[in-house]
Amino acid sequence: MFIGHFGLGFGAKRAAPAVSLGTLFTACQFADLLWPTLLLFGYERVEVQQGATLMTPLNFVSYPYSHSLLALCAWGVLFGVAYSVIRQGRIRPAVTIALLVVSHWFLDYVTHLPDLPLTLHGSTRVGLGLWNSVPGTLAAEFALFGIGLAMYLRATKARDRAGSIGLWSLVAFLVIVYIAATFGPPPPTPAAIAWSAQSMWLIVIWGYWIDKHRVPIAMGTRG
Ligand SMILES: [Zn+2]
Repeated sequence: MFIGHFGLGFGAKRAAPAVSLGTLFTACQFADLLWPTLLLFGYERVEVQQGATLMTPLNFVSYPYSHSLLALCAWGVLFGVAYSVIRQGRIRPAVTIALLVVSHWFLDYVTHLPDLPLTLHGSTRVGLGLWNSVPGTLAAEFALFGIGLAMYLRATKARDRAGSIGLWSLVAFLVIVYIAATFGPPPPTPAAIAWSAQSMWLIVIWGYWIDKHRVPIAMGTRG
Protein backbone atom coordinates (compact mmCIF):
# COMPACT_ATOMS: atom_id res chain seq x y z
CA MET A 1 0.00 0.00 0.00
CA PHE A 2 1.24 3.49 -0.74
CA ILE A 3 -1.10 6.48 -0.91
CA GLY A 4 -3.61 4.83 1.44
CA HIS A 5 -1.06 5.30 4.26
CA PHE A 6 -0.91 9.02 3.49
CA GLY A 7 -4.71 9.09 3.61
CA LEU A 8 -4.50 8.04 7.26
CA GLY A 9 -1.76 10.60 7.91
CA PHE A 10 -3.91 13.40 6.45
CA GLY A 11 -7.04 12.23 8.27
CA ALA A 12 -5.26 12.07 11.64
CA LYS A 13 -4.90 15.86 11.59
CA ARG A 14 -8.53 15.97 12.69
CA ALA A 15 -7.80 13.88 15.79
CA ALA A 16 -4.55 15.69 16.59
CA PRO A 17 -4.59 19.21 15.09
CA ALA A 18 -1.50 20.29 17.03
CA VAL A 19 0.69 17.61 15.44
CA SER A 20 2.49 18.69 12.26
CA LEU A 21 1.49 16.97 9.04
CA GLY A 22 5.18 16.01 8.68
CA THR A 23 5.07 14.13 11.99
CA LEU A 24 1.80 12.44 11.00
CA PHE A 25 3.39 11.32 7.71
CA THR A 26 6.46 10.05 9.57
CA ALA A 27 4.17 7.99 11.83
CA CYS A 28 1.91 6.45 9.18
CA GLN A 29 4.90 5.66 6.93
CA PHE A 30 7.41 4.84 9.66
CA ALA A 31 7.67 1.22 8.44
CA ASP A 32 8.45 2.30 4.87
CA LEU A 33 10.84 5.04 6.01
CA LEU A 34 12.85 2.56 8.07
CA TRP A 35 12.75 -0.24 5.49
CA PRO A 36 15.13 1.12 2.79
CA THR A 37 17.87 1.80 5.35
CA LEU A 38 17.51 -1.71 6.79
CA LEU A 39 17.70 -3.06 3.21
CA LEU A 40 20.88 -1.11 2.49
CA PHE A 41 22.51 -2.39 5.70
CA GLY A 42 21.44 -5.95 4.89
CA TYR A 43 19.14 -6.45 7.90
CA GLU A 44 16.08 -6.95 5.67
CA ARG A 45 15.70 -8.41 2.18
CA VAL A 46 13.58 -7.85 -0.92
CA GLU A 47 13.78 -9.41 -4.38
CA VAL A 48 12.45 -8.30 -7.74
CA GLN A 49 10.33 -11.12 -9.10
CA GLN A 50 8.31 -10.46 -12.25
CA GLY A 51 4.67 -11.34 -11.68
CA ALA A 52 5.01 -11.72 -7.89
CA THR A 53 1.62 -9.96 -7.74
CA LEU A 54 -0.37 -8.09 -10.39
CA MET A 55 0.33 -4.79 -8.63
CA THR A 56 3.98 -5.11 -7.64
CA PRO A 57 6.92 -7.29 -8.72
CA LEU A 58 8.46 -7.17 -5.23
CA ASN A 59 8.98 -10.30 -3.20
CA PHE A 60 9.36 -9.24 0.45
CA VAL A 61 11.74 -11.98 1.58
CA SER A 62 12.36 -10.69 5.10
CA TYR A 63 11.42 -7.45 6.91
CA PRO A 64 10.69 -8.20 10.57
CA TYR A 65 12.17 -5.00 12.07
CA SER A 66 10.25 -2.60 9.87
CA HIS A 67 7.09 -4.58 9.12
CA SER A 68 6.22 -7.17 11.79
CA LEU A 69 3.17 -6.45 13.92
CA LEU A 70 5.28 -6.74 17.07
CA ALA A 71 7.95 -4.34 15.82
CA LEU A 72 5.40 -1.77 14.67
CA CYS A 73 3.62 -1.89 18.07
CA ALA A 74 6.99 -1.28 19.74
CA TRP A 75 7.92 1.53 17.30
CA GLY A 76 4.46 3.04 17.85
CA VAL A 77 4.84 3.09 21.65
CA LEU A 78 8.37 4.48 21.34
CA PHE A 79 7.31 7.18 18.89
CA GLY A 80 4.26 8.14 21.00
CA VAL A 81 6.31 8.30 24.22
CA ALA A 82 9.05 10.34 22.51
CA TYR A 83 6.43 12.80 21.27
CA SER A 84 4.80 13.20 24.69
CA VAL A 85 8.20 13.66 26.38
CA ILE A 86 9.21 16.34 23.87
CA ARG A 87 5.77 17.99 24.05
CA GLN A 88 5.47 17.51 27.81
CA GLY A 89 2.89 14.87 28.45
CA ARG A 90 0.22 15.40 25.84
CA ILE A 91 -1.67 12.13 25.67
CA ARG A 92 -4.13 12.40 22.78
CA PRO A 93 -1.60 13.36 20.10
CA ALA A 94 0.84 10.75 21.43
CA VAL A 95 -1.82 8.02 21.18
CA THR A 96 -2.78 9.19 17.68
CA ILE A 97 0.85 8.94 16.58
CA ALA A 98 1.29 5.47 18.10
CA LEU A 99 -1.89 4.22 16.39
CA LEU A 100 -0.74 5.66 13.06
CA VAL A 101 2.55 3.76 13.28
CA VAL A 102 0.66 0.49 13.94
CA SER A 103 -1.94 1.28 11.24
CA HIS A 104 0.75 0.71 8.62
CA TRP A 105 0.76 -3.02 9.40
CA PHE A 106 -3.02 -3.36 9.08
CA LEU A 107 -3.17 -1.54 5.73
CA ASP A 108 -0.25 -3.59 4.39
CA TYR A 109 -2.00 -6.72 5.71
CA VAL A 110 -4.87 -6.05 3.29
CA THR A 111 -2.71 -5.63 0.18
CA HIS A 112 0.37 -7.83 0.71
CA LEU A 113 0.60 -11.54 -0.09
CA PRO A 114 1.09 -13.62 3.08
CA ASP A 115 4.57 -12.18 3.69
CA LEU A 116 3.98 -9.93 6.72
CA PRO A 117 5.50 -11.33 9.92
CA LEU A 118 3.76 -11.13 13.29
CA THR A 119 6.93 -11.28 15.38
CA LEU A 120 10.66 -10.80 14.81
CA HIS A 121 11.62 -14.45 14.46
CA GLY A 122 8.39 -16.44 14.10
CA SER A 123 7.61 -18.18 10.83
CA THR A 124 3.95 -17.09 10.58
CA ARG A 125 3.37 -14.75 7.63
CA VAL A 126 0.03 -13.15 6.84
CA GLY A 127 -1.58 -10.95 4.18
CA LEU A 128 -4.88 -10.89 2.33
CA GLY A 129 -3.27 -10.39 -1.10
CA LEU A 130 -5.42 -7.58 -2.49
CA TRP A 131 -2.41 -6.84 -4.72
CA ASN A 132 -3.62 -9.65 -6.97
CA SER A 133 -6.47 -7.37 -8.03
CA VAL A 134 -5.51 -4.13 -9.78
CA PRO A 135 -9.01 -2.53 -9.60
CA GLY A 136 -9.44 -3.70 -5.99
CA THR A 137 -6.10 -2.22 -4.93
CA LEU A 138 -6.65 1.08 -6.74
CA ALA A 139 -10.15 1.38 -5.25
CA ALA A 140 -8.88 0.75 -1.71
CA GLU A 141 -5.89 3.08 -2.04
CA PHE A 142 -7.81 5.96 -3.61
CA ALA A 143 -10.75 5.58 -1.22
CA LEU A 144 -8.48 5.83 1.85
CA PHE A 145 -6.49 8.67 0.31
CA GLY A 146 -9.63 10.59 -0.72
CA ILE A 147 -11.38 10.20 2.65
CA GLY A 148 -8.23 11.18 4.56
CA LEU A 149 -7.61 14.21 2.35
CA ALA A 150 -11.25 15.33 2.71
CA MET A 151 -10.91 15.11 6.52
CA TYR A 152 -7.68 17.12 6.36
CA LEU A 153 -9.33 19.80 4.22
CA ARG A 154 -12.12 20.11 6.80
CA ALA A 155 -9.61 20.28 9.66
CA THR A 156 -7.24 22.93 8.24
CA LYS A 157 -7.23 25.97 6.01
CA ALA A 158 -4.46 27.67 4.04
CA ARG A 159 -2.72 30.54 5.81
CA ASP A 160 -1.35 31.83 2.50
CA ARG A 161 -0.99 30.82 -1.15
CA ALA A 162 1.86 28.45 -0.33
CA GLY A 163 -0.53 26.59 1.97
CA SER A 164 -2.83 25.63 -0.87
CA ILE A 165 -0.29 25.34 -3.70
CA GLY A 166 2.01 23.27 -1.49
CA LEU A 167 -0.80 20.92 -0.49
CA TRP A 168 -2.26 20.42 -3.97
CA SER A 169 1.14 19.93 -5.57
CA LEU A 170 1.89 17.23 -2.98
CA VAL A 171 -1.45 15.55 -3.70
CA ALA A 172 -0.68 15.57 -7.45
CA PHE A 173 2.85 14.33 -6.80
CA LEU A 174 1.67 11.39 -4.67
CA VAL A 175 -0.96 10.35 -7.23
CA ILE A 176 1.51 10.59 -10.16
CA VAL A 177 4.25 8.67 -8.32
CA TYR A 178 1.76 5.99 -7.35
CA ILE A 179 0.40 5.58 -10.89
CA ALA A 180 3.93 5.62 -12.37
CA ALA A 181 5.16 2.99 -9.88
CA THR A 182 2.12 0.82 -10.55
CA PHE A 183 2.14 0.90 -14.33
CA GLY A 184 5.81 1.72 -15.03
CA PRO A 185 8.67 -0.74 -15.52
CA PRO A 186 9.80 -2.77 -12.48
CA PRO A 187 12.84 -1.52 -10.53
CA PRO A 188 16.06 -3.20 -11.71
CA THR A 189 17.61 -4.24 -8.40
CA PRO A 190 16.92 -4.33 -4.64
CA ALA A 191 19.51 -1.56 -4.19
CA ALA A 192 17.62 0.64 -6.68
CA ILE A 193 14.42 -0.01 -4.71
CA ALA A 194 16.11 0.96 -1.45
CA TRP A 195 17.63 4.17 -2.81
CA SER A 196 14.45 5.31 -4.54
CA ALA A 197 12.42 4.48 -1.40
CA GLN A 198 14.61 6.92 0.55
CA SER A 199 12.90 9.70 -1.40
CA MET A 200 9.94 9.16 0.97
CA TRP A 201 11.79 11.51 3.35
CA LEU A 202 11.13 14.33 0.87
CA ILE A 203 7.40 13.80 1.38
CA VAL A 204 7.90 14.07 5.15
CA ILE A 205 9.80 17.36 4.73
CA TRP A 206 7.07 18.53 2.32
CA GLY A 207 4.49 17.70 5.04
CA TYR A 208 6.32 19.85 7.62
CA TRP A 209 6.53 22.70 5.12
CA ILE A 210 2.81 22.51 4.23
CA ASP A 211 1.94 22.47 7.92
CA LYS A 212 3.70 25.81 8.43
CA HIS A 213 1.44 27.36 5.79
CA ARG A 214 -1.90 25.98 7.02
CA VAL A 215 -3.80 26.47 10.27
CA PRO A 216 -6.15 24.09 12.08
CA ILE A 217 -9.81 25.13 11.93
CA ALA A 218 -11.14 25.23 15.50
CA MET A 219 -14.18 22.98 15.94
CA GLY A 220 -17.40 24.90 15.60
CA THR A 221 -15.94 27.97 13.93
CA ARG A 222 -16.37 26.75 10.42
CA GLY A 223 -18.75 28.84 8.40
ZN1 LIG B 1 4.88 -0.93 4.10
